[in-house]
Amino acid sequence: MSYNIVIIGAGPGGYVAAVRAARLGAKVAIIEKDEVGGTCLNRGCIPTKTLAYGAGLLNNIRRAAEFGITTGEVAVDFSRMVERKNKVVSQLVVGVNYLIKKNKIDLIKGTARLQAPGKVSVAAEDGKEIVITTDNIIIATGTEPALSTALGYDGELVLTSNEALSIAGVPEKLLVIGGGVIGCEFACIFNALGSKVTVLEVMPTILPVVDKEVAKTMQGLLKRQGITVKTKAKILEVKKSAGTVTAILESGEEIAAGRALISIGRSMNSRGLGLEEAGVAVGRRGEVIVNDKLETSVPGIYAIGDVTGKVQLAHVASAQGLVAVDNILGRSREMDYRAIPNCIFTHPEVAGIGLTTQEAQEKAITVKSGKFSFAASGKAQAMGETSGFVKVLADPESDRVLGVHIVGPRATDLIAEAALAIRMDVTVKQLTETIHAHPTLSEAVLEAAEAVHGMSIHA
Ligand code: FAD
Repeated sequence: MSYNIVIIGAGPGGYVAAVRAARLGAKVAIIEKDEVGGTCLNRGCIPTKTLAYGAGLLNNIRRAAEFGITTGEVAVDFSRMVERKNKVVSQLVVGVNYLIKKNKIDLIKGTARLQAPGKVSVAAEDGKEIVITTDNIIIATGTEPALSTALGYDGELVLTSNEALSIAGVPEKLLVIGGGVIGCEFACIFNALGSKVTVLEVMPTILPVVDKEVAKTMQGLLKRQGITVKTKAKILEVKKSAGTVTAILESGEEIAAGRALISIGRSMNSRGLGLEEAGVAVGRRGEVIVNDKLETSVPGIYAIGDVTGKVQLAHVASAQGLVAVDNILGRSREMDYRAIPNCIFTHPEVAGIGLTTQEAQEKAITVKSGKFSFAASGKAQAMGETSGFVKVLADPESDRVLGVHIVGPRATDLIAEAALAIRMDVTVKQLTETIHAHPTLSEAVLEAAEAVHGMSIHA
Protein backbone atom coordinates (compact mmCIF):
# COMPACT_ATOMS: atom_id res chain seq x y z
CA MET A 1 0.00 0.00 0.00
CA SER A 2 1.29 3.46 -0.88
CA TYR A 3 -0.13 6.90 -0.14
CA ASN A 4 0.54 10.63 -0.60
CA ILE A 5 -0.15 11.24 3.09
CA VAL A 6 -0.35 8.88 6.07
CA ILE A 7 -1.73 10.41 9.25
CA ILE A 8 -1.11 8.81 12.65
CA GLY A 9 -4.00 9.53 15.02
CA ALA A 10 -7.62 10.34 14.19
CA GLY A 11 -8.29 13.10 16.74
CA PRO A 12 -9.46 16.60 15.71
CA GLY A 13 -5.98 17.22 14.31
CA GLY A 14 -5.66 14.01 12.31
CA TYR A 15 -9.15 13.50 10.92
CA VAL A 16 -9.60 17.14 9.90
CA ALA A 17 -6.24 17.03 8.09
CA ALA A 18 -7.26 13.75 6.41
CA VAL A 19 -10.56 15.13 5.13
CA ARG A 20 -8.97 18.34 3.82
CA ALA A 21 -6.17 16.42 2.10
CA ALA A 22 -8.59 13.97 0.49
CA ARG A 23 -10.80 16.84 -0.73
CA LEU A 24 -7.74 18.39 -2.31
CA GLY A 25 -7.15 15.15 -4.22
CA ALA A 26 -4.49 13.38 -2.11
CA LYS A 27 -4.50 9.64 -1.49
CA VAL A 28 -4.77 9.46 2.28
CA ALA A 29 -4.64 6.82 5.02
CA ILE A 30 -5.31 7.49 8.69
CA ILE A 31 -4.15 5.11 11.40
CA GLU A 32 -5.99 4.96 14.73
CA LYS A 33 -5.44 2.55 17.61
CA ASP A 34 -8.69 3.46 19.39
CA GLU A 35 -11.93 5.24 18.40
CA VAL A 36 -11.83 7.98 15.76
CA GLY A 37 -12.36 11.46 17.19
CA GLY A 38 -9.45 11.13 19.63
CA THR A 39 -9.34 12.66 23.09
CA CYS A 40 -11.60 15.54 22.07
CA LEU A 41 -14.54 13.44 21.03
CA ASN A 42 -14.16 10.39 23.28
CA ARG A 43 -12.58 11.63 26.52
CA GLY A 44 -12.33 15.43 26.31
CA CYS A 45 -14.26 18.34 24.84
CA ILE A 46 -17.52 16.63 23.91
CA PRO A 47 -18.14 14.37 26.94
CA THR A 48 -17.18 17.12 29.40
CA LYS A 49 -19.33 19.69 27.67
CA THR A 50 -22.28 17.29 27.56
CA LEU A 51 -22.01 16.78 31.32
CA ALA A 52 -21.37 20.50 31.86
CA TYR A 53 -24.52 21.35 29.93
CA GLY A 54 -26.51 18.98 32.15
CA ALA A 55 -24.97 20.54 35.25
CA GLY A 56 -25.86 24.03 33.95
CA LEU A 57 -29.43 22.92 33.27
CA LEU A 58 -29.64 21.64 36.82
CA ASN A 59 -28.39 24.98 38.17
CA ASN A 60 -31.09 26.74 36.16
CA ILE A 61 -33.85 24.35 37.25
CA ARG A 62 -32.87 24.95 40.87
CA ARG A 63 -33.37 28.67 40.27
CA ALA A 64 -36.73 28.16 38.52
CA ALA A 65 -38.75 29.76 41.35
CA GLU A 66 -36.84 33.03 40.79
CA PHE A 67 -38.37 33.09 37.30
CA GLY A 68 -41.87 32.28 38.57
CA ILE A 69 -41.68 28.62 37.62
CA THR A 70 -42.74 25.94 40.06
CA THR A 71 -41.02 22.60 39.74
CA GLY A 72 -41.43 19.34 41.60
CA GLU A 73 -38.60 17.80 43.50
CA VAL A 74 -35.41 17.94 41.45
CA ALA A 75 -33.20 14.86 41.48
CA VAL A 76 -30.10 13.79 39.59
CA ASP A 77 -29.87 10.40 37.90
CA PHE A 78 -26.16 10.44 37.15
CA SER A 79 -26.16 7.09 35.34
CA ARG A 80 -28.67 8.55 32.84
CA MET A 81 -26.53 11.64 32.42
CA VAL A 82 -23.59 9.37 31.64
CA GLU A 83 -25.77 7.34 29.26
CA ARG A 84 -26.78 10.51 27.41
CA LYS A 85 -23.14 11.64 27.27
CA ASN A 86 -22.16 8.25 25.81
CA LYS A 87 -24.91 8.54 23.20
CA VAL A 88 -23.77 12.00 22.13
CA VAL A 89 -20.20 10.71 21.83
CA SER A 90 -21.15 7.62 19.83
CA GLN A 91 -23.33 9.63 17.43
CA LEU A 92 -20.41 11.94 16.72
CA VAL A 93 -17.99 9.01 16.36
CA VAL A 94 -20.36 7.60 13.72
CA GLY A 95 -20.25 11.01 12.04
CA VAL A 96 -16.44 11.07 11.89
CA ASN A 97 -16.34 7.49 10.55
CA TYR A 98 -18.83 8.56 7.89
CA LEU A 99 -16.67 11.56 6.91
CA ILE A 100 -13.63 9.32 6.59
CA LYS A 101 -15.50 6.86 4.39
CA LYS A 102 -17.24 9.52 2.31
CA ASN A 103 -13.92 11.15 1.50
CA LYS A 104 -12.41 7.78 0.48
CA ILE A 105 -9.78 7.87 3.21
CA ASP A 106 -8.39 4.48 4.23
CA LEU A 107 -8.89 4.02 7.99
CA ILE A 108 -6.36 1.52 9.30
CA LYS A 109 -7.02 0.31 12.85
CA GLY A 110 -3.89 -0.41 14.88
CA THR A 111 -0.86 1.11 16.55
CA ALA A 112 1.49 2.93 14.19
CA ARG A 113 5.24 3.28 14.37
CA LEU A 114 7.64 5.10 12.07
CA GLN A 115 10.12 2.75 10.46
CA ALA A 116 11.86 5.43 8.42
CA PRO A 117 10.83 8.58 6.57
CA GLY A 118 8.11 7.39 4.18
CA LYS A 119 7.57 4.07 5.94
CA VAL A 120 5.07 3.33 8.69
CA SER A 121 4.34 -0.02 10.31
CA VAL A 122 0.97 -0.77 11.88
CA ALA A 123 0.42 -3.43 14.53
CA ALA A 124 -3.21 -4.47 14.31
CA GLU A 125 -5.20 -5.76 17.30
CA ASP A 126 -5.07 -9.30 15.88
CA GLY A 127 -1.27 -9.21 16.11
CA LYS A 128 -0.71 -8.82 12.35
CA GLU A 129 1.71 -6.15 11.19
CA ILE A 130 1.56 -4.27 7.91
CA VAL A 131 3.98 -1.78 6.44
CA ILE A 132 2.76 1.13 4.36
CA THR A 133 4.77 3.52 2.28
CA THR A 134 3.94 7.17 1.81
CA ASP A 135 5.35 10.43 0.48
CA ASN A 136 4.47 12.30 3.68
CA ILE A 137 3.59 11.49 7.29
CA ILE A 138 1.60 13.62 9.73
CA ILE A 139 2.03 12.72 13.41
CA ALA A 140 -1.18 13.58 15.29
CA THR A 141 -0.97 11.28 18.29
CA GLY A 142 -2.16 13.71 20.97
CA THR A 143 -1.71 13.36 24.72
CA GLU A 144 -2.65 11.30 27.78
CA PRO A 145 -3.37 12.53 31.33
CA ALA A 146 -0.14 13.31 33.20
CA LEU A 147 0.31 11.26 36.36
CA SER A 148 2.53 11.53 39.39
CA THR A 149 3.26 8.49 41.54
CA ALA A 150 2.86 10.51 44.76
CA LEU A 151 -0.74 11.17 43.81
CA GLY A 152 -1.69 7.48 43.96
CA TYR A 153 -3.53 7.05 40.66
CA ASP A 154 -5.47 3.76 40.60
CA GLY A 155 -8.41 4.56 38.29
CA GLU A 156 -10.91 3.85 41.07
CA LEU A 157 -10.42 6.13 44.04
CA VAL A 158 -7.86 8.37 42.42
CA LEU A 159 -8.94 9.15 38.88
CA THR A 160 -7.98 11.09 35.81
CA SER A 161 -10.49 12.85 33.56
CA ASN A 162 -10.76 9.59 31.57
CA GLU A 163 -12.44 7.72 34.44
CA ALA A 164 -14.18 10.74 35.99
CA LEU A 165 -16.41 10.97 32.91
CA SER A 166 -18.07 7.64 33.68
CA ILE A 167 -17.81 7.01 37.45
CA ALA A 168 -20.53 4.89 39.00
CA GLY A 169 -22.07 7.69 41.10
CA VAL A 170 -21.60 11.24 42.31
CA PRO A 171 -19.05 11.19 45.15
CA GLU A 172 -20.14 12.91 48.35
CA LYS A 173 -16.77 14.64 48.52
CA LEU A 174 -14.41 15.18 45.61
CA LEU A 175 -10.84 16.36 45.73
CA VAL A 176 -9.69 18.02 42.51
CA ILE A 177 -5.90 18.04 42.28
CA GLY A 178 -4.94 20.88 39.93
CA GLY A 179 -6.93 24.07 39.39
CA GLY A 180 -6.33 24.38 35.66
CA VAL A 181 -8.96 24.28 32.95
CA ILE A 182 -9.90 20.59 33.27
CA GLY A 183 -9.89 20.70 37.09
CA CYS A 184 -12.13 23.77 37.26
CA GLU A 185 -14.56 22.36 34.68
CA PHE A 186 -14.95 19.10 36.62
CA ALA A 187 -15.20 21.03 39.92
CA CYS A 188 -18.22 22.95 38.54
CA ILE A 189 -19.86 19.82 37.12
CA PHE A 190 -19.60 17.76 40.32
CA ASN A 191 -20.42 20.72 42.55
CA ALA A 192 -23.69 21.21 40.64
CA LEU A 193 -24.41 17.48 40.91
CA GLY A 194 -24.08 17.64 44.70
CA SER A 195 -20.45 16.78 45.56
CA LYS A 196 -18.61 18.82 48.17
CA VAL A 197 -15.64 19.83 46.02
CA THR A 198 -12.19 20.99 47.12
CA VAL A 199 -9.76 22.24 44.48
CA LEU A 200 -6.06 22.07 45.38
CA GLU A 201 -3.75 24.22 43.28
CA VAL A 202 -0.02 24.51 43.88
CA MET A 203 0.26 27.91 42.15
CA PRO A 204 -0.83 31.18 43.79
CA THR A 205 -3.99 31.30 41.61
CA ILE A 206 -6.21 28.89 39.74
CA LEU A 207 -6.31 29.07 35.92
CA PRO A 208 -2.75 30.46 35.66
CA VAL A 209 -2.87 30.96 31.87
CA VAL A 210 -5.98 33.12 32.03
CA ASP A 211 -5.95 36.94 32.44
CA LYS A 212 -5.20 37.42 36.14
CA GLU A 213 -8.23 39.63 36.85
CA VAL A 214 -10.50 37.02 35.24
CA ALA A 215 -8.83 34.17 37.19
CA LYS A 216 -9.23 36.06 40.48
CA THR A 217 -12.89 36.77 39.75
CA MET A 218 -13.48 33.13 38.80
CA GLN A 219 -11.85 31.95 42.01
CA GLY A 220 -14.32 34.12 43.96
CA LEU A 221 -17.25 32.83 41.89
CA LEU A 222 -16.23 29.19 42.50
CA LYS A 223 -16.13 29.88 46.24
CA ARG A 224 -19.53 31.56 46.07
CA GLN A 225 -20.95 28.33 44.61
CA GLY A 226 -19.63 26.39 47.58
CA ILE A 227 -16.42 25.04 46.02
CA THR A 228 -13.42 25.21 48.36
CA VAL A 229 -10.35 26.49 46.55
CA LYS A 230 -6.93 26.17 48.17
CA THR A 231 -4.06 27.78 46.30
CA LYS A 232 -0.32 27.38 47.09
CA ALA A 233 -1.38 23.90 48.21
CA LYS A 234 1.48 21.49 47.67
CA ILE A 235 0.49 17.85 48.05
CA LEU A 236 3.17 15.61 49.55
CA GLU A 237 1.22 12.39 49.33
CA VAL A 238 -2.21 10.94 48.69
CA LYS A 239 -3.15 8.13 51.08
CA LYS A 240 -5.94 5.65 50.43
CA SER A 241 -7.92 3.49 52.82
CA ALA A 242 -11.33 1.79 52.59
CA GLY A 243 -13.08 4.14 50.18
CA THR A 244 -11.32 7.28 51.38
CA VAL A 245 -8.61 9.36 49.76
CA THR A 246 -6.60 11.74 51.94
CA ALA A 247 -4.31 14.42 50.55
CA ILE A 248 -1.46 15.31 52.86
CA LEU A 249 -0.38 18.90 52.22
CA GLU A 250 3.03 20.42 52.85
CA SER A 251 1.32 22.77 55.31
CA GLY A 252 0.45 19.73 57.44
CA GLU A 253 -3.24 19.92 56.55
CA GLU A 254 -5.00 16.66 55.61
CA ILE A 255 -8.05 16.71 53.32
CA ALA A 256 -10.17 13.60 52.92
CA ALA A 257 -12.71 12.75 50.19
CA GLY A 258 -14.43 9.79 48.57
CA ARG A 259 -12.61 10.32 45.28
CA ALA A 260 -9.74 12.40 43.93
CA LEU A 261 -9.39 13.66 40.38
CA ILE A 262 -5.89 14.32 39.10
CA SER A 263 -5.85 17.18 36.59
CA ILE A 264 -2.24 18.31 36.54
CA GLY A 265 -1.65 18.47 32.79
CA ARG A 266 -1.11 16.14 29.84
CA SER A 267 1.83 14.04 28.61
CA MET A 268 2.64 13.84 24.92
CA ASN A 269 2.08 10.58 23.05
CA SER A 270 5.49 10.58 21.42
CA ARG A 271 7.11 7.56 23.06
CA GLY A 272 7.23 4.25 21.22
CA LEU A 273 6.50 5.95 17.90
CA GLY A 274 9.94 5.34 16.45
CA LEU A 275 10.69 9.07 16.31
CA GLU A 276 14.31 8.77 17.41
CA GLU A 277 15.03 6.04 14.85
CA ALA A 278 13.48 8.20 12.12
CA GLY A 279 15.57 11.19 13.28
CA VAL A 280 12.61 13.35 14.37
CA ALA A 281 13.64 15.89 17.03
CA VAL A 282 11.69 15.71 20.28
CA GLY A 283 11.79 18.33 23.05
CA ARG A 284 12.28 18.02 26.80
CA ARG A 285 8.57 17.55 27.49
CA GLY A 286 8.26 14.87 24.82
CA GLU A 287 6.81 17.33 22.31
CA VAL A 288 7.53 16.79 18.62
CA ILE A 289 9.39 19.91 17.57
CA VAL A 290 7.83 21.71 14.60
CA ASN A 291 8.22 25.05 12.85
CA ASP A 292 5.28 27.29 11.89
CA LYS A 293 4.75 25.19 8.75
CA LEU A 294 4.35 22.15 11.07
CA GLU A 295 7.47 20.57 9.57
CA THR A 296 9.55 18.42 11.92
CA SER A 297 13.32 18.08 11.69
CA VAL A 298 12.86 15.40 8.98
CA PRO A 299 11.63 16.40 5.50
CA GLY A 300 8.29 14.77 4.69
CA ILE A 301 7.36 14.26 8.36
CA TYR A 302 4.97 16.78 9.89
CA ALA A 303 3.37 16.96 13.35
CA ILE A 304 0.18 18.65 14.50
CA GLY A 305 -2.04 18.97 17.57
CA ASP A 306 -1.36 18.36 21.23
CA VAL A 307 1.77 16.29 20.57
CA THR A 308 3.52 19.43 19.29
CA GLY A 309 3.17 20.95 22.78
CA LYS A 310 2.15 24.31 21.33
CA VAL A 311 -1.43 25.06 22.40
CA GLN A 312 -3.41 22.03 23.59
CA LEU A 313 -6.84 22.82 22.18
CA ALA A 314 -8.93 20.92 19.66
CA HIS A 315 -9.43 23.90 17.33
CA VAL A 316 -5.67 24.53 17.28
CA ALA A 317 -5.04 20.86 16.38
CA SER A 318 -7.49 21.18 13.47
CA ALA A 319 -6.03 24.50 12.32
CA GLN A 320 -2.53 23.01 12.40
CA GLY A 321 -3.82 20.03 10.41
CA LEU A 322 -5.06 22.30 7.64
CA VAL A 323 -1.78 24.23 7.53
CA ALA A 324 0.27 21.00 7.40
CA VAL A 325 -1.85 19.67 4.51
CA ASP A 326 -1.51 22.95 2.60
CA ASN A 327 2.27 22.80 2.99
CA ILE A 328 2.42 19.15 1.89
CA LEU A 329 0.35 19.96 -1.18
CA GLY A 330 2.55 22.91 -2.14
CA ARG A 331 0.31 25.72 -0.86
CA SER A 332 2.90 27.28 1.48
CA ARG A 333 1.30 28.54 4.70
CA GLU A 334 2.31 29.24 8.31
CA MET A 335 0.40 28.89 11.57
CA ASP A 336 -0.72 32.15 13.15
CA TYR A 337 -0.98 31.65 16.92
CA ARG A 338 -1.95 35.29 17.63
CA ALA A 339 -5.70 34.83 17.68
CA ILE A 340 -6.57 31.63 19.50
CA PRO A 341 -9.69 31.64 21.63
CA ASN A 342 -9.22 29.85 24.94
CA CYS A 343 -12.55 28.74 26.37
CA ILE A 344 -13.32 27.30 29.80
CA PHE A 345 -16.73 25.75 30.33
CA THR A 346 -17.08 26.49 34.02
CA HIS A 347 -20.07 28.13 35.68
CA PRO A 348 -20.00 30.93 34.64
CA GLU A 349 -17.90 30.49 31.53
CA VAL A 350 -14.48 32.00 30.91
CA ALA A 351 -12.97 32.92 27.55
CA GLY A 352 -9.95 34.89 26.49
CA ILE A 353 -7.89 35.73 23.46
CA GLY A 354 -4.69 37.62 22.78
CA LEU A 355 -2.61 39.60 25.24
CA THR A 356 -3.38 39.19 28.96
CA THR A 357 -2.82 41.83 31.63
CA GLN A 358 0.09 39.86 33.11
CA GLU A 359 1.75 39.38 29.69
CA ALA A 360 1.49 43.13 29.08
CA GLN A 361 3.16 43.74 32.45
CA GLU A 362 5.87 41.09 31.94
CA LYS A 363 6.72 42.36 28.44
CA ALA A 364 6.37 46.03 29.48
CA ILE A 365 3.74 46.59 26.79
CA THR A 366 1.70 49.72 27.43
CA VAL A 367 -2.01 49.08 26.96
CA LYS A 368 -5.22 50.93 27.50
CA SER A 369 -8.16 48.92 28.74
CA GLY A 370 -11.92 49.06 29.03
CA LYS A 371 -14.20 46.93 31.16
CA PHE A 372 -17.92 46.34 31.23
CA SER A 373 -19.75 44.42 33.89
CA PHE A 374 -22.56 42.00 32.99
CA ALA A 375 -24.52 43.51 35.90
CA ALA A 376 -25.16 46.52 33.61
CA SER A 377 -26.27 44.37 30.63
CA GLY A 378 -30.01 44.20 29.96
CA LYS A 379 -29.77 40.70 28.50
CA ALA A 380 -27.69 39.39 31.42
CA GLN A 381 -30.26 40.86 33.82
CA ALA A 382 -33.07 39.18 31.86
CA MET A 383 -31.22 35.87 32.12
CA GLY A 384 -30.39 36.37 35.78
CA GLU A 385 -26.70 35.83 34.96
CA THR A 386 -25.05 39.06 36.02
CA SER A 387 -21.70 37.87 37.42
CA GLY A 388 -18.54 38.75 35.54
CA PHE A 389 -17.31 41.21 32.97
CA VAL A 390 -15.72 41.77 29.57
CA LYS A 391 -12.31 43.40 29.40
CA VAL A 392 -10.72 44.77 26.22
CA LEU A 393 -7.00 45.57 26.01
CA ALA A 394 -5.82 47.81 23.18
CA ASP A 395 -2.71 49.47 21.84
CA PRO A 396 -2.82 53.16 22.83
CA GLU A 397 -1.06 54.25 19.63
CA SER A 398 -2.62 52.18 16.87
CA ASP A 399 -5.91 51.61 18.76
CA ARG A 400 -5.72 47.92 17.71
CA VAL A 401 -7.50 45.37 19.89
CA LEU A 402 -4.76 43.27 21.55
CA GLY A 403 -6.73 41.10 23.96
CA VAL A 404 -10.28 40.36 25.08
CA HIS A 405 -11.04 38.52 28.32
CA ILE A 406 -14.46 37.49 29.53
CA VAL A 407 -15.88 35.82 32.60
CA GLY A 408 -19.64 35.54 32.52
CA PRO A 409 -22.61 34.08 30.66
CA ARG A 410 -21.89 32.55 27.22
CA ALA A 411 -18.32 33.85 27.34
CA THR A 412 -17.28 30.94 25.11
CA ASP A 413 -19.60 32.10 22.32
CA LEU A 414 -18.91 35.83 22.78
CA ILE A 415 -15.18 35.36 22.19
CA ALA A 416 -15.71 34.62 18.46
CA GLU A 417 -16.12 38.34 17.70
CA ALA A 418 -12.85 39.07 19.51
CA ALA A 419 -11.08 36.34 17.51
CA LEU A 420 -12.09 38.00 14.26
CA ALA A 421 -11.14 41.44 15.61
CA ILE A 422 -7.63 40.34 16.58
CA ARG A 423 -7.10 38.23 13.45
CA MET A 424 -8.10 41.17 11.22
CA ASP A 425 -6.20 43.84 13.26
CA VAL A 426 -9.46 45.62 14.02
CA THR A 427 -9.22 48.87 16.01
CA VAL A 428 -11.31 49.68 19.05
CA LYS A 429 -12.92 52.45 16.99
CA GLN A 430 -13.95 49.97 14.28
CA LEU A 431 -15.32 47.60 16.89
CA THR A 432 -17.37 50.33 18.54
CA GLU A 433 -18.69 51.52 15.17
CA THR A 434 -20.05 48.03 14.52
CA ILE A 435 -23.72 47.88 15.46
CA HIS A 436 -24.40 45.16 18.02
CA ALA A 437 -27.94 43.80 18.35
CA HIS A 438 -30.02 44.69 21.40
CA PRO A 439 -30.63 43.09 23.82
CA THR A 440 -27.74 40.65 23.50
CA LEU A 441 -24.76 39.68 25.61
CA SER A 442 -22.55 40.83 22.74
CA GLU A 443 -23.39 44.41 23.73
CA ALA A 444 -21.08 43.81 26.72
CA VAL A 445 -18.18 43.37 24.27
CA LEU A 446 -19.21 46.61 22.53
CA GLU A 447 -19.47 48.52 25.80
CA ALA A 448 -16.10 47.20 27.06
CA ALA A 449 -14.58 48.43 23.78
CA GLU A 450 -16.31 51.81 24.21
CA ALA A 451 -14.93 51.94 27.77
CA VAL A 452 -11.39 51.83 26.32
CA HIS A 453 -12.07 55.38 25.06
CA GLY A 454 -14.06 56.28 28.19
CA MET A 455 -17.23 56.30 26.06
CA SER A 456 -19.30 53.38 27.38
CA ILE A 457 -22.94 54.47 27.71
CA HIS A 458 -23.97 52.07 30.45
CA ALA A 459 -20.75 51.53 32.43
P1 FAD B 1 -6.04 13.58 20.26
O1 FAD B 1 -7.42 14.10 20.23
O2 FAD B 1 -5.46 13.18 21.57
O3 FAD B 1 -6.00 12.36 19.25
C1 FAD B 1 -4.85 11.57 19.10
C2 FAD B 1 -5.27 10.22 18.58
O4 FAD B 1 -4.10 9.50 18.22
C3 FAD B 1 -5.99 9.36 19.61
O5 FAD B 1 -7.21 8.91 19.08
C4 FAD B 1 -5.03 8.20 19.88
O6 FAD B 1 -5.71 6.99 20.12
C5 FAD B 1 -4.27 8.14 18.55
N1 FAD B 1 -2.94 7.55 18.67
C6 FAD B 1 -1.96 7.85 19.56
N2 FAD B 1 -0.84 7.13 19.30
C7 FAD B 1 -1.12 6.33 18.25
C8 FAD B 1 -0.39 5.37 17.52
N3 FAD B 1 0.87 5.08 17.81
N4 FAD B 1 -1.01 4.74 16.49
C9 FAD B 1 -2.29 5.00 16.16
N5 FAD B 1 -3.04 5.92 16.82
C10 FAD B 1 -2.46 6.58 17.83
N6 FAD B 1 -10.00 21.29 23.86
C11 FAD B 1 -10.81 22.26 23.42
O7 FAD B 1 -10.48 22.92 22.44
N7 FAD B 1 -12.01 22.53 24.04
C12 FAD B 1 -12.41 21.84 25.13
O8 FAD B 1 -13.49 22.11 25.67
C13 FAD B 1 -11.58 20.80 25.63
N8 FAD B 1 -11.95 20.07 26.69
C14 FAD B 1 -11.15 19.05 27.12
C15 FAD B 1 -11.55 18.32 28.22
C16 FAD B 1 -10.76 17.27 28.68
C17 FAD B 1 -11.19 16.46 29.87
C18 FAD B 1 -9.55 16.94 27.98
C19 FAD B 1 -8.69 15.80 28.43
C20 FAD B 1 -9.15 17.68 26.89
C21 FAD B 1 -9.93 18.75 26.45
N9 FAD B 1 -9.56 19.53 25.35
C22 FAD B 1 -10.36 20.55 24.94
C23 FAD B 1 -8.28 19.29 24.64
C24 FAD B 1 -8.55 18.52 23.34
O9 FAD B 1 -9.18 17.31 23.65
C25 FAD B 1 -7.23 18.29 22.63
O10 FAD B 1 -6.59 19.53 22.43
C26 FAD B 1 -7.43 17.62 21.28
O11 FAD B 1 -8.10 16.39 21.42
C27 FAD B 1 -6.08 17.39 20.61
O12 FAD B 1 -6.28 16.79 19.38
P2 FAD B 1 -5.16 15.88 18.68
O13 FAD B 1 -5.75 15.49 17.37
O14 FAD B 1 -3.87 16.56 18.74
O15 FAD B 1 -5.00 14.60 19.64
